[in-house]
Amino acid sequence: MSAISYVNGVYIDHQDAMVNIEDRGYQFADGVYEVFAVIKKKIVDYDGHINRLYRSLNEISLKSPIVKDAYIFHIRNLIRKNNIKDGLIYLQISRGVAQRDFKFPKNTKPSIVITAKSISMDDYYSKFTKGIKVKITDDLRWKRVDIKTLNLLPPVLAKQKAVENGCDEAWMIDSEGYITEGSSSNAWILIKDKLITTPATNSILKGITRTSLINALKKKKIKFIEKRFNKKDIKIANEAFITSATQFVMPVVKVDNAKIGDGKVGKYANIFKDAYMEAIQLK
Ligand code: PMP
Repeated sequence: MSAISYVNGVYIDHQDAMVNIEDRGYQFADGVYEVFAVIKKKIVDYDGHINRLYRSLNEISLKSPIVKDAYIFHIRNLIRKNNIKDGLIYLQISRGVAQRDFKFPKNTKPSIVITAKSISMDDYYSKFTKGIKVKITDDLRWKRVDIKTLNLLPPVLAKQKAVENGCDEAWMIDSEGYITEGSSSNAWILIKDKLITTPATNSILKGITRTSLINALKKKKIKFIEKRFNKKDIKIANEAFITSATQFVMPVVKVDNAKIGDGKVGKYANIFKDAYMEAIQLK
């Protein structure tokens, strides 16, 4: 079965879906996006993601091309049309097609693209039992990474560097030596029984998975603090994690080739993952 995507009001075979070469998403990365996980045909934390999409649109002065209720309608259609049980939905909105000029075009309708693909939860759980390796790289991004924009070259380069060093994710470090976040995830360490994650300022994307995990931890009365951490803190951490819509809660067992704890997935990893999975909202 060929994949079906949604492009500007039309459901179309994925291989036939095209964008105009004058699209400002293509020309300037002038747009925003969201990624939603799907578990058992339901959208994970839909409200958090859709509200963040509207915040991102607002921050770059872009109007949604469709009414808010239409998003869940189209996403559910794609889940059904692509026969997705577990999967990922990618949704992007750009400022639309206009002759190349930096300033905003007048009367241009934003472009919207939504795609869907299946993922295997078995693959996730087997990756979880091994944990992942992280490479520390410089954070080369702009000053508004709290907005989920299409401008992703720095994280692309960071992730590539991680992969070239046999790692799965990059943790980006700022000019003061603090870890901001992963190239496409939020970063966490555990020192003794103190769980630490970087505060949600303009220097990180406030992950929806991060917020859900925090809510889950509060419910379970597990303590955590929002505090910046550096390489020295990582050295004494007994466990570490990343969170994202695509990785859920994923343990980190090595950072820059140094083992975290004994280099194996620790006992808190399961506690946090289970707390998160229990607390997610499925819509
Ligand atoms: N930080 C960055 C830079 C990301 O790209 C992502 C994934 N989009 C996250 C954090 C995690 O966010 P979420 O949990 O909403 O997927």
